[in-house]
Amino acid sequence: MSTRKKLIVVGGGASGFFCGVNAAQMNPMLDVVILEKTNKLLSKVKVSGGGRCNVTHYSEAVSDMIEAYPRGKNFMKKSLYRFSSQDTQNWFLLRGVQLKVESDGRMFPESDKSQSVIDCLMHEAEKYKVEIKLQTEVFQIKKMTDGFDLEVKYGVKEVEVIHADFICIATGGHSKESGFQWLKQMGIDIEPPVPSLFTFNILDSKLHQLMGVASPDSMLKIPKLKLQERGPVLITHWGLSGPAILKMSSRAAKELNELDYAFDVSLNWAPEYHESAMLELIKTKRIEIARQLVGNKNPLDIPGRLWNYLLEKSTIKPDISWANIPSAASNLLSKNICNDVYSVKGKTTFKEEFVTAGGIKIESIHQATLESKLIPGLYFAGEVLNVDGITGGYNFQHAWSSGWIVAEDITTKMSEVKS
Ligand SMILES: Cc1cc2nc3c(=O)[nH]c(=O)nc-3n(C[C@H](O)[C@H](O)[C@H](O)COP(=O)(O)OP(=O)(O)OC[C@H]3O[C@@H](n4cnc5c(N)ncnc54)[C@H](O)[C@@H]3O)c2cc1C
Repeated sequence: MSTRKKLIVVGGGASGFFCGVNAAQMNPMLDVVILEKTNKLLSKVKVSGGGRCNVTHYSEAVSDMIEAYPRGKNFMKKSLYRFSSQDTQNWFLLRGVQLKVESDGRMFPESDKSQSVIDCLMHEAEKYKVEIKLQTEVFQIKKMTDGFDLEVKYGVKEVEVIHADFICIATGGHSKESGFQWLKQMGIDIEPPVPSLFTFNILDSKLHQLMGVASPDSMLKIPKLKLQERGPVLITHWGLSGPAILKMSSRAAKELNELDYAFDVSLNWAPEYHESAMLELIKTKRIEIARQLVGNKNPLDIPGRLWNYLLEKSTIKPDISWANIPSAASNLLSKNICNDVYSVKGKTTFKEEFVTAGGIKIESIHQATLESKLIPGLYFAGEVLNVDGITGGYNFQHAWSSGWIVAEDITTKMSEVKS
């Protein structure tokens, strides 16, 4: 009697491919099929990281890495112990794709081309005879006594039922809860999706004139949520972007959605100082560099254009000397440097990378295996889970780790069948 089994992976993205090719390599007795509803495979890998694919983030310690996951931090702790950023690097290296690290920890293929990652995964799929079906959408899964029946649509109408012993759902994120409806019908718990990784829209033409100015170190606060984030901030022609803004958008994804993206942000452009310490500094400078012009002598690490804007906002002409700054204007300047408040109205998708927060509740799966607690044999990998990271390669790392864990557990189950 044949002991061959079939794994159907739903979704031809990073997590689905990683699960499929590893499961096929680990199990010669497993037939692996990837079903993809569009006519493109690995489409996000292709465009990711501006076409370079930020494959993972360099990290020595799991304890550091997990801080980058606002949702699923404890889940990722277990996950990364099983398949870490180092494992990702080794996996790709063994298959001819060397990764390089940039100064901020992001890792890219040496070629700087996402195509290298795609070619590698496609080659593995071919090598281990993973069958791939494009334009094949799964819209219903039925649990049977001997596995599953999947109802699939080819193109628009042709419907077929495919049988599987194991299923890995790797369908990625959906911006609307309705995208999870077919999974909800199976009794699977969903955390409603909200966008993550976006920039802040601010209607302020004077701020917009500073487009392109990057503050290397700022403290960003959302007083209403009592949240703060420190790091680089970029001024754009629609508002604010940069690492600190994106991190905040990720950490507060749910709360900002509840506020309908209308809230105040306060920026401290010189985060080493609070307002009263800044006033003291200005008083000292009025004596120390009394004769120098304020526009020429910026005592802080604030970009020149931003400094002149802050002076103007504080009614200080750049061609007056430090000694001549009126005391009321000194107060205003220290306030504008340390507590520069703007009203955010709306968000803009960060084109380089965006993800959805929400998805399959991690409480509904066995965290060691990623198998559904409700439906044995049904697994989940990647962004479909309520796990997401900040920018920097963390989201792909989750896709690789989860895909790997599913492949490993199916291997364990296969060996149990044999013995
Ligand atoms: C523009 C952009 C750039 C990014 N850059 C980076 C980056 O550099 N680094 C990083 O870490 N992260 C990045 N991300 C995030 C990262 O791409 C995702 O987190 C990751 O691709 C998730 O992989 P996944 O396989 O879980 O889902 P996906 O890549 O979304 O793949 C899911 C697949 O399932 C298919 N599918 C859905 N439903 C069905 C169905 N019912 N039947 C059959 N198929 C179905 C979809 O068509 C899709 O192909 C970026 C995201 C975007 C949008």
